[in-house]
Amino acid sequence: MSDNESAMIAEKTIVRENLDKMYPLIDTHTHFDAPVFDDDRTQQVQQAYAQGIRHLVLVGYLHQYFARMYDTQRSVNYITHLSNTAYNDPDKCHINAHIALGLHPFYIEQHTEDCLVQLEKMVIDRRPLAIGEIGLDTFTDAMKAPDTFAKQVRFFKTQLDIAVTHQLPVMLHIRKAHAEALAILKTHKYNAHKLGGIAHSFSGGEQEAKAFVKLGFKLGVTGQITNPNAKKLHRAIQAAVDSYGIECLVIETDCPDMTPIMCQTSSGYHLALEPTSNDKFDSAHSHNRNVPANLPWVLSSLSELLEVSHAKLAKQLWQNSCDALKVDWAYPV
Ligand SMILES: [Zn+2]
Repeated sequence: MSDNESAMIAEKTIVRENLDKMYPLIDTHTHFDAPVFDDDRTQQVQQAYAQGIRHLVLVGYLHQYFARMYDTQRSVNYITHLSNTAYNDPDKCHINAHIALGLHPFYIEQHTEDCLVQLEKMVIDRRPLAIGEIGLDTFTDAMKAPDTFAKQVRFFKTQLDIAVTHQLPVMLHIRKAHAEALAILKTHKYNAHKLGGIAHSFSGGEQEAKAFVKLGFKLGVTGQITNPNAKKLHRAIQAAVDSYGIECLVIETDCPDMTPIMCQTSSGYHLALEPTSNDKFDSAHSHNRNVPANLPWVLSSLSELLEVSHAKLAKQLWQNSCDALKVDWAYPV
């Protein structure tokens, strides 16, 4: 057996390690401001910290909730502060919450032109970490209607313009519209190689995965990767990594959605994936919601799929997140 083969076998043994060991992680996409967290946000922050989460991004979807996101950011920082005081240890619990502002394509009917004006005003006043989530979504028949889709395209392009003007990365939400989104991104002056950006909760095929990475985006991997039946997703992620290396990935919970399969307690999973109400995050059931503390399961499944150890993958994902968000957060040692 060559040294190389022995090393690979050793690596495979390592990747089957359980989750006993904690690694520093960045949750690149959450809706932790959702009301479903109002009753136990403090405990959730502490549990997330205990699981290694050191940064989380609160991602925008409706203009009316932007203020709530900033309130949540303050409360996460306050929880952090309280925990530090309680334990008298400055390193005991310190999660940094960050904000992305954007108008989500799934809620296009609820957005007005004024929302775009207000968005840009807020970007100027408060300088968020990123613009998002923005993109195209034709999940339902109603969203495929020409007028509705044209409005999605218009809002997508305008928000890409805002990202370019203010030199900010974008968080893309693309569902059942990958070809159309790629066509827009290829001609738009937004340059992900320069500004960064994440194709959040990536759900396309192998060629599409590679196309987004080629444009400079990282692929956001959620708890869906934990589902052994998610063959198409596994193949797409593997294909992107085969061509571009593990540098093309970041991880996220997208909480309260996308609960890892091992954390699900009922058949409510499909409800979370296929929203029927106007606000899917309000309707997520608290007993089956996803939480930031579940992020290590995404690390674990990805590590098994790619046959890379938790430690190596966690460190690379941290760097990838910093690259995608154009920040320089120190890796905790
Ligand atoms: Zn989201």
